[in-house]
Amino acid sequence: MSHNYVIVLHGGAGVNPDREYAQVEAHLAGLVDRCDDMLAGGASALDMVEFAVSQMESSGLYVAGRGSAPNDQGVVECDAAIMDGARMKAGGVCAAADIAEPIRAARAVLDHTPYILLAGDGAKAFAREHNLEMVADPATHFVLPVGIEAEEMLQLDEGLAHGTVGAVALDMHGGLAAATSTGGLLGKRAGRVGDTPITGIGNWADSEVAVSCTGIGEAFIYAGGARDLAARMAYGGESLEQAGDALLAAVARNRGDGGLIAVDRMGNVTMPFNSAGMKRAVSGSRIDRRVSIL
Ligand code: ASP
Repeated sequence: MSHNYVIVLHGGAGVNPDREYAQVEAHLAGLVDRCDDMLAGGASALDMVEFAVSQMESSGLYVAGRGSAPNDQGVVECDAAIMDGARMKAGGVCAAADIAEPIRAARAVLDHTPYILLAGDGAKAFAREHNLEMVADPATHFVLPVGIEAEEMLQLDEGLAHGTVGAVALDMHGGLAAATSTGGLLGKRAGRVGDTPITGIGNWADSEVAVSCTGIGEAFIYAGGARDLAARMAYGGESLEQAGDALLAAVARNRGDGGLIAVDRMGNVTMPFNSAGMKRAVSGSRIDRRVSIL
């Protein structure tokens, strides 16, 4: 046992300079401290990333879970994925309405099915079967107004046009895990699915590295996504930092921007972004807690 552990969180790429982020910063600081304590107590990386993302989903402070942005039909459809690098097992849900904490459904897919991704009504029925909390009344549950036009919403707050939350962790047993959850893009066409729930693109963990991405999903898919970062390290001999920067350069070449968080099995961390800011936090046995927005 190395006893080295790390937790890294992101609350989405893209920051509105006119918006106040003190509440987000305080939330990230409190959450990363709790995760640090639990990892120090022996918690697994998988449990930790699920817990961290569910807390961000239910806070309503980010464009995921309660804070998700409605699509062009005024419906909130969420995407989420989780992966356990130690067991090479993943789970996800996409275009899923009415699941209060989509990452819990992704974890249930990982734990209870041989599949990786359940979509739409199938995902919803699966969540119900597993007694996960469902949204009783979208009009009061979601923080962003459901049922108003995307253009009106953009006038309200440009910073909410898209967003995602994610967590990656290394536990003291050497396990790596990643979890990512999003409401996607504000006003997206009903049924649109981005990078977030696609294992290997928006989210990835293996025995070497764990990665969670945020930004324009289509560009991350063209660029190869999180598994491209892992492959650059495995086949190209690139460092974690070089591989993260190279992925974001490819995202930019593919008409997008965004950011990512990643941790490798040695406990190295990278948190690059080429968007205007990325809400993020890190803490670990050998890393002092840091929370940043810009
Ligand atoms: N990647 C997400 C998507 O394209 C959005 C985001 O991270 O802001 O659905």
